[in-house]
Amino acid sequence: MLQSEILGSTGWLDDVGLVQKVGESCGVFGVYGPGLDVARLTYFGLFALQHRGQESAGIAVSGGTGVTVYKDLGLVAQVFDEQRLAGLDGHLAIGHNRYSTTGSGSWENAQPSYRAIGERTIALSHNGNLSNTSSLADDLGVLQETMSDSELMTEAIGRELDRTDWDRALSTVLPMFEGAFSLTIMDDDHLIGVRDPLGFRPLVLGRIDGGMVLASETCGLDIIGADFIREIAPGEVIIIGQDGVRSIHPFKNVKQRTCVFEFVYFSRPDSTMSGQSIHAARRRMGERLAAEHPADVDVVIPVPESGIPAAQGFAAAARIPYVDGLVKNRYIGRTFINPTQQMRDQGVRMKLNPITQELEGKRVVLVDDSIVRGSTTRQLISMVKKAGANEVHLRVSSPPYKWPCFYGMDTGRQEELIASRMTVEEIADFLEVDSLGYLSMDGLLEATAVDPNRFCTACLTGDYPTEIPDMRSTGAPST
Ligand code: SF4
Repeated sequence: MLQSEILGSTGWLDDVGLVQKVGESCGVFGVYGPGLDVARLTYFGLFALQHRGQESAGIAVSGGTGVTVYKDLGLVAQVFDEQRLAGLDGHLAIGHNRYSTTGSGSWENAQPSYRAIGERTIALSHNGNLSNTSSLADDLGVLQETMSDSELMTEAIGRELDRTDWDRALSTVLPMFEGAFSLTIMDDDHLIGVRDPLGFRPLVLGRIDGGMVLASETCGLDIIGADFIREIAPGEVIIIGQDGVRSIHPFKNVKQRTCVFEFVYFSRPDSTMSGQSIHAARRRMGERLAAEHPADVDVVIPVPESGIPAAQGFAAAARIPYVDGLVKNRYIGRTFINPTQQMRDQGVRMKLNPITQELEGKRVVLVDDSIVRGSTTRQLISMVKKAGANEVHLRVSSPPYKWPCFYGMDTGRQEELIASRMTVEEIADFLEVDSLGYLSMDGLLEATAVDPNRFCTACLTGDYPTEIPDMRSTGAPST
């Protein structure tokens, strides 16, 4: 088993408060492909899914006689190079990009997690967050503090697999898990995809040169030239091996509640979900926003990058020029180098910089996808005003974010969410904007063009689709 050394990291940019945004979810990937360079395909799959998590990256690979895992802190391109990939030879692989809450960014939490069972090893990549970790840890007789939810899942599956075959093990163990889990799992010979019965997080199936691929989003298939077959259904388990592909359905109650923020922010705009283009849905959110909250202004400016499609939709519907007034430093990502205190004080400027010529003397609508805690947005508004904008009207392409997420998104505690403490008018005052308008819940759901009953909207409505034991005041770790 390979294990990399832990780099001498003292913190990520996001950890030192430079960027406050809803944390991304994790990215999972898997490929079963005899004769294919599965490690390289997984690398590129993770590369396309990098937006879902930048804290650590890992690949597990098997050639039929053992599983090798390599993982480390950093971006996919920082963790892997040609030499590392050359050491990962086999015919099936899984991969993981991790996003996590502040303070849990240790090497131990990087994935895939793995467990030896007799002569063989299983590896597991998890996108989501379990909401019953303490009862699961009790059932397993382990201390909750010593294992992440993903390690608990690996442990539970491994113990059962030691007694029986994959079908029976998964049918017994998976119903014990509550919360959000889209998984790719492997042993020496099998690639397995799992989507929880509420389907919180996406997972898609594709085909490449006689091989099969699993990915969090369709963009993970596109990059390697795989054909999209279909989405894994909520509650479906797909088992891929030498004898073909089969599905089992171990969950009794299946009721789709996919995270609506996949449409607002998390997924890449070039991905599709439930048959809809994410980019087109975001444009429609902007069009609806323009109808619900018009503004008499000179230009529409997006907060890059996730605010771009909604700003385009707003500008087109309102017939107001769309202008790039802010430039994002695309390569800031995550760095092992701590910024100086002076840079930290500059806050948002580390990530976004205004184009003064486009803002000077203008009345501006600024379009963003969400406001979580509000302090970064406040800095942003101040920066736009300093660049010379006469008026700043903020439009948000989702409803007020009032409730913490327990399904894999790092939103912090409820009291940190600005919309849970303040009215829209109070938020406008706090941000020092000339006006503020949020997209309505109906507007958001209609813009997705998906059956509204299929979504989780808990962070916007407080209507949680699962029991949340003792966690509302504490926030929850994400994986
Ligand atoms: S609570 Fe919000 S962010 Fe979390 S899964 Fe539900 S819709 Fe998504």
